[in-house]
Formats: sequence, C-alpha cells, structure tokens
Amino acid sequence: MTSVIERLRGDGPKFSIEFFPPRDAADEAVLWKAIRELEPYDPAYMSITYGAGGSSRDGTIRSIARVATETTLVPMAHLTAVNHTVAELRNVIGWYASVGVRNILALRGDPPGDVYGDWIPHPEGLTYAEELVRLVRELGDFCVGVSASTYGHPRSPDLETDTKYLVRKLRAGADFAIAQLFHDAEDFLRLRDRVAATGCDVPVLPGVMPLTTLRTLQTTIKLSGAPAPRKLLDRLEPLADDPKAFRAAGIDVITELCERLIAEGVPNLHFYTFNRSKATREVIARLGLVPARA
Ligand code: FAD
Repeated sequence: MTSVIERLRGDGPKFSIEFFPPRDAADEAVLWKAIRELEPYDPAYMSITYGAGGSSRDGTIRSIARVATETTLVPMAHLTAVNHTVAELRNVIGWYASVGVRNILALRGDPPGDVYGDWIPHPEGLTYAEELVRLVRELGDFCVGVSASTYGHPRSPDLETDTKYLVRKLRAGADFAIAQLFHDAEDFLRLRDRVAATGCDVPVLPGVMPLTTLRTLQTTIKLSGAPAPRKLLDRLEPLADDPKAFRAAGIDVITELCERLIAEGVPNLHFYTFNRSKATREVIARLGLVPARA
C-alpha cells in the first residue's frame, strides 16, 4: 500500500481530501457520492476523521476499510487518544493495519463535548499526540502525520512554546504535519518558517476549506482559533443574504489563497470537504490540478 509521504514526492502541487464518518445510511450515501466524485481527480490521499465533533468511531473504522478495499485512493485514518487505554489504541492501530491502512494521523483529540474543556487523560492512556506518534511507530511500518496549529494551539501559552512541542512531536517520528484552518496564506507561511527555523525539515501541509456559505466561514473562524481579518469579512459578509454571490466570492477567496500557497511551493493542499465534493472540485479545477483522465 502506497504511503502518504511517497504520494507527496514528485513534481508539482497535489491535493488531498478529508471526510468525516457517517452516522447513518443517509450520511453514508452522501459520503460515498463525494468519494466517488473525487476519486477520478487522483488526490494524493484521502482521510477520515476519528470521533471529531461527536462522530462515530466505528464509522471511521468501517469507512476506511471500505476505501482501502473498494477504491483506488490512498487511505489515511485519523486516530485520537480521547477516552482510550493504550491497549485499545494498540487494538485500533492493529485493526487499521489488518485492512491495509498504513497511514495514520496521530492526534491527541479534544475533550468530548467541549473543545476548550479540561483535558483529562485516560488513566491507562496517553496525554500528548507525541506519545501516540511513538506508539504507532513502535507497532509497525506506518506513515504518520500530526496536526499543527497555524495560530498556536488554544492551550499553548505562546507561539514559541507551541512550536517547541510541535517540533518535538515531529521529531518523535512524524512524516508530515497538517495545519489547522487559517485565514491568510501569510499566516500559514509563518508557521512553516517557525518550524524550518528550528532545523526541522518535516513538511507542513496547509488545511483548506472552500467558503461556500456563511456557516463555512463561521466554522473556519472557530476551527482556526483566530478572528477573521477585517478585509475577509468586508468581502464576504455583505453577501450573506445572497447565497449565490457569497459562494462565488468564497470560492474566489479560497482559490486565491491556494494560488499563493502553491507559488510558495507547498507540496499539497489538504481540503476539508465536509463530505461534499463540488466546491473542492471547482477549486482544484481553477488551480489546474485536475489530471487529464478526470
Ligand atoms: P498535541 O500535539 O498533544 O498538543 C496539545 C497541546 O499540548 C498543545 O497546546 C501542545 O503545545 C501541548 N503539548 C504537546 N506536547 C506537549 C508536551 N510534551 N508537554 C507539554 N505540552 C505539550 N480531532 C479529533 O477529535 N478527531 C480528528 O479526526 C481530528 N482530525 C484533525 C485533523 C487535522 C488536520 C487537524 C489540524 C486537527 C484535527 N483534530 C481532530 C483536532 C485535534 O485533535 C485538536 O486540535 C486537539 O486539540 C489537539 O490535538 P494535537 O494532536 O495537536 O495535540
């Protein structure tokens, strides 16, 4: 099975796609429609989140197994330490391997129900993503990714401390990092520079979400952990009552952001699809990233 890092090698920018697991049959149909619509575009890899925002863990395991066996896509499974003993984590990692998933995004995760609530590790579990990176590495020949926060993790006292622990996590055996959503390409490039300045050459990939509705803008603001810049709000908020115009402007904003990132040499753009394919297909078409056969 090809690894994510192998897929990132080679010429030209690439893109990848992230989904969340389905909760019921209707969700599952929506997810698989999006997966099948994006498959011919040959993304570098696809990933499925784990327990994020109350989504089902079984759903992650079932969906990633199906992707590994029924599609041409390179699958990456997310995994978090939330409410898991080390024995359970070993079990899930072994299960991923048994269905042919060799790429894992190793995350600490957030406290259930409240992203900013107190983090209480499981008494027989792990405290930081760094430990999960080591555990995955110990258990086999996996390609391991981690998360990075463009504006610093909400629990980090300052950017310096945040960078210190991010680099420790990368040096613990991560092959790449994916940055949380951000508003301005320059903000991501500063994160990349902070990591490079420590002498760490592990690639950091930008996380991107097409802004198609006011709700996607609000989700981006929430997930980024930083207020949106005035110039972005001035461009989009006046269009809030005109969904068509908002969508067109939002896709323009994200296309311009991606163009700047590509000009700065990012090897891959990681799209949060929210289980819909249309907006991602539009942006990658405008960026010229669609393979001829699609
Ligand atoms: P960590 O790297 O462990 O960091 C957490 C905090 O601890 C930070 O403040 C860090 O600076 C600090 N820290 C780290 N190591 C140490 C140390 N050794 N000593 C002291 N302090 C330390 N969540 C989900 O629940 N499911 C998902 O599928 C999911 N997918 C994601 C995908 C992407 C691309 C991204 C960017 C995030 C995703 N998340 C997901 C969210 C993620 O779980 C949260 O951001 C979580 O709050 C932090 O996880 P982490 O792995 O970055 O934690």
